[in-house]
Amino acid sequence: MAWDFSTEPEFQEKLDWMGEFVRREVEPIDVLYSSERFVYDKSHPIHDEIVRGLQQQVKDRDLWACHLGPELGGKGYGQLKLGLMNEILGRSGWAPTVFGCQAPDSGNAEILAHYGTEEQKEEFLKPLLESEISSCYSMTEPQAGSDPGQFRCRAVRDGDDWVIQGEKWFSSCLRYARFAIVMAVTNPDVPVYQGTSMFLVPTDTPGIEILRHTGLASEPEGEGNHAYVHYDNVRVPAANLLGGEGQAFAIAQTRLGGGRIHHAMRTVGAAQRAFDMMCERALSRHTQGEPLAQKQMVQEMIAESWIQLHQFRLQVLHAAWTIDHVGGRQARLEIAAVKVALPRVYRDVATRAIQIHGSLGMSNEMPLTSMVLGALALGLADGPTEVHKISVARRVLKQYQPHPGLFPSEHLPARRDAAKKKFADFLEHAAARY
Ligand SMILES: Cc1cc2nc3c(=O)[nH]c(=O)nc-3n(C[C@H](O)[C@H](O)[C@H](O)COP(=O)(O)OP(=O)(O)OC[C@H]3O[C@@H](n4cnc5c(N)ncnc54)[C@H](O)[C@@H]3O)c2cc1C
Repeated sequence: MAWDFSTEPEFQEKLDWMGEFVRREVEPIDVLYSSERFVYDKSHPIHDEIVRGLQQQVKDRDLWACHLGPELGGKGYGQLKLGLMNEILGRSGWAPTVFGCQAPDSGNAEILAHYGTEEQKEEFLKPLLESEISSCYSMTEPQAGSDPGQFRCRAVRDGDDWVIQGEKWFSSCLRYARFAIVMAVTNPDVPVYQGTSMFLVPTDTPGIEILRHTGLASEPEGEGNHAYVHYDNVRVPAANLLGGEGQAFAIAQTRLGGGRIHHAMRTVGAAQRAFDMMCERALSRHTQGEPLAQKQMVQEMIAESWIQLHQFRLQVLHAAWTIDHVGGRQARLEIAAVKVALPRVYRDVATRAIQIHGSLGMSNEMPLTSMVLGALALGLADGPTEVHKISVARRVLKQYQPHPGLFPSEHLPARRDAAKKKFADFLEHAAARY
């Protein structure tokens, strides 16, 4: 029997160690340095004085950057195992950094590994894999995010160089990045999916002008992590074109497939944390002479959350299993469906946790409102939910055919006629006997 929901004991041991390590050593950093800028600003002393030591422990356990293929020093774990690991990492904002798989660096490293020159790998990939530098993925533009057909940032060949001109919006981490991977239109005469290319742009290249550091929600103005940037005639050598002209979207797809599963399992871990808080509070807080846990409407919230979370966890693990068995291309439906479900489950569970905590849940003394905000961001980053829903529906509909004729194939009168024909002999005898 091939359906097996168990984890092999040797791997479970690794997961147990990770769980304990993240809880004991990493989660305390989240409390002191909760802003994501500390995660990416590698010049902050926390990296040298605390995080490097933790990273070394992860390396010693052979759990560093496990998402990478064996050719890059990764373990070659399949997506299912990576999913289980990421579930643990999702409990903490710092854990992915401590385990060498922080976005966008993880995806950017894969691009450089596949398409960079030896010199570029030495200069950018090596320190990126060692978590010595940060990187940025620069695609969205101020006038267009989910519709790349409106992208205007251009790159034009000039002798031995490419010259990039245009604006990008929400280029996360650019302010701390050593390089950006920039998507720019290189051939406006063909559809954008064939006419866009990817460039490696070191951030000390002249012409990179950050217009604003946009933040999320109530982050103080100017302190955000998402750059609004003008690439003003930014000149890079021809070798900085990654993967050939017109290849940007094909490369982006490779980069995002597995990453979406990792994010989904991190979301399971984060939502589980909100769920744990909800249950603890329901048992601890008393009103009208009994714990909240005795109130049926509270029980309903707990039951709905458990079911939603459990369903989603199985959905993500199944998508991971599908990638392992048939490959990422064949698992696009499952991956898109996971991406759709992800923000809703997280938002629902975190919102119910707020409700059960009452005013404390809304306060800045609990992490729950940040979780809801995080859920909303997950419905946008890497493409809005609606776009992924369209993808799900299109792929599902490819599995069906229109039915000829006026009525559908399940129309009862037609099915009854067919059944009567099939059992005509029996019906004749049965009628004679009864
Ligand atoms: C936290 C965060 C981090 C990010 N980091 C990066 C980054 O590092 N690099 C980068 O390049 N980008 C980044 N982004 C940008 C992200 O990729 C875009 O927000 C996303 O692609 C949507 O683009 P948009 O914001 O321009 O929304 P728009 O394209 O303007 O869409 C707005 C809304 O319109 C609706 N909509 C759009 N298309 C359709 C459709 N086809 N059918 C139905 N409804 C539709 C949806 O409700 C959508 O949310 C980040 C975003 C967030 C929130």
